[in-house]
Formats: sequence, structure tokens, C-alpha cells
Amino acid sequence: MDVVSSLSDLKTVRLSLDGTVGLVPTMGYLHEGHLSLVSRAKAENKNVIVSIFVNPTQFGANEDLSKYPRDLERDLNLLSSLFPPSSEQKLVVWTPSDEIMYPHGYQTWVEVEALTKVLEGSMRPGHFRGVTTIVAKLFNATQPDKAYFGQKDAQQVAVIRRMAVDLNFPLEVIVCPTQREADGLALSSRNKYLNEAERKAATVLFRSLSAAKELYEKGERDGENLRRKMKEVLEGEPLAQMQYVSCTDYDTLEELDVVKGKALLSMAVFLGKTRLIDNFILG
Ligand code: AMP
Repeated sequence: MDVVSSLSDLKTVRLSLDGTVGLVPTMGYLHEGHLSLVSRAKAENKNVIVSIFVNPTQFGANEDLSKYPRDLERDLNLLSSLFPPSSEQKLVVWTPSDEIMYPHGYQTWVEVEALTKVLEGSMRPGHFRGVTTIVAKLFNATQPDKAYFGQKDAQQVAVIRRMAVDLNFPLEVIVCPTQREADGLALSSRNKYLNEAERKAATVLFRSLSAAKELYEKGERDGENLRRKMKEVLEGEPLAQMQYVSCTDYDTLEELDVVKGKALLSMAVFLGKTRLIDNFILG
């Protein structure tokens, strides 16, 4: 495992890599969700690059940038256990600083339009501009053959796939399934903020999505009825404060009156001060 920070060290190690490269962008504080992306990248590539960077430009002014959990030593231990010294495959961990990614005078941004105006984009103005800018920079710096993202962040996946096509990035975007706790809660670095009662209540996202999916499986195709079912379950949990529920087309993220083809059920819910998101795919 090589750990590099500067762009020149990254360039040197990138030039030394032989064979395909899979990139896994992360903000660190790794859990089994992140590690499932790394394992998939390892299974499909000769080399894996994991970036660890808490990207300040994707956090809003009132969001949790300063308290976002960080533990590089723990992250490196988890990653090195996937790539023992005997492994023929190479792991590079890139940990750039804010100054490396956004040096003095920085003024260039990447923006995907309609797809970022809805759902998370409407609740978190500027978030996706930060995401697409940093991901484009990670793609340019690491030159991967494939890049791995989690379905947990469904809109992020839709936006990055669009950006990769629109800007002709010569790589494949691979989407990996959401990893969950035994009780259904999607793994997230932010789960650490939940107190005991909120942690118990947080299963309501999974319960709400499951209830709507069950209706869908029984034949319900009315988008409003599916949204209503999700809301109903969320309202049954006093510690949960719904921000939005949605039933959209999977690719365009347009809200659906009638579900046809592949669709996305998604939601954002506050448990106390912690904002959690989750989604299920239909069809
Ligand atoms: P983050 O560190 O939160 O920016 O996440 C880095 C990558 O891991 C993103 O592509 C996420 O979608 C993905 N990810 C986060 N949580 C999960 C999860 N529970 N299951 C699968 N992928 C995840």
C-alpha cells in the first residue's frame, strides 16, 4: 500500500502502475459500505486507488464540515487488511489536503444542470457543484479505467454518470449496492452522530422504503400512493422529521405520477440534528 498526498507523488506512483486502475473516491471514516466498493474495484482491476478527502465545497454553510468524522490511521488499517503485503495487486491511497485540491486563486467549477436541481440538490444548494468538481479533479488526477460509487447516494450516481458522459471521461462508472446494518439502516459515516434512541428510530427509513416497495410489488403503480405510504410510515416515528420523500424515474429523477420502467424511491429524514438519506430501486 502506498499512501501519497501531493499531486507530484500521485503522478509518480500513477505512472508506475501497470494494468487497469479502479478508483474509489471517499471522504474517509471508512465502513463496510466503502470497503464493498474497494473489494469490487480490487476484483475488477489490477490496481486500486482510494482517495480520502473531506471535500469542503460540497458542504453547505450550515452543514457538518468541521465535525465530519475523520480517522486516517483507522482508515489505512482497514484498507491495508484488504491488500496484504503478499497481494499481487497494488493499493494507492491518496490523501490530498484542501490546499492541494483548492489552491489560492482556485476558480474553476463543473456543474451538471437539471439533474442537480431536484431532491438533494434542492435541499442542499451548491452541494452537487462541489461533488462534480471534486470528482472531475479526482478523475483527471488518477486517470482510472473504472470508478466506483455507492447506490446509497442515488442522485450522486445519476449526476456523476451524466457528467462522465457529457465531459467524455474515458472511464466506466460502476454502481455498487447499498450495504446495510442487520436491521436495515444503510451504513453511513454520519450514523456515528446518532444517540441510542435516534439509532433505534433510524430504521424507519428502511421500514418506510420497504413498505412502499411491498405496495409496488403487489401492483401499485401510482407514484403519489407510493409517496403517501412512505410518509405514513415516517410519521409513525416520533423522533423522525421527514424532509422529503420521492418516487422518480431512475435516470431523469423526474417525479412520477405513474411508475413505468426503472424508478427510484428516495428520502431525506432528520433524526435529531442528523440528516440521513436512503433509497430503493424499483423495477
Ligand atoms: P462518502 O465517504 O460518504 O463520500 O462515500 C464514498 C462512497 O461510498 C460513495 O460512492 C458512497 O455512495 C459510498 N457509500 C457510502 N455508504 C455506502 C453504503 N452504505 N453502501 C454502499 N456504498 C456506500
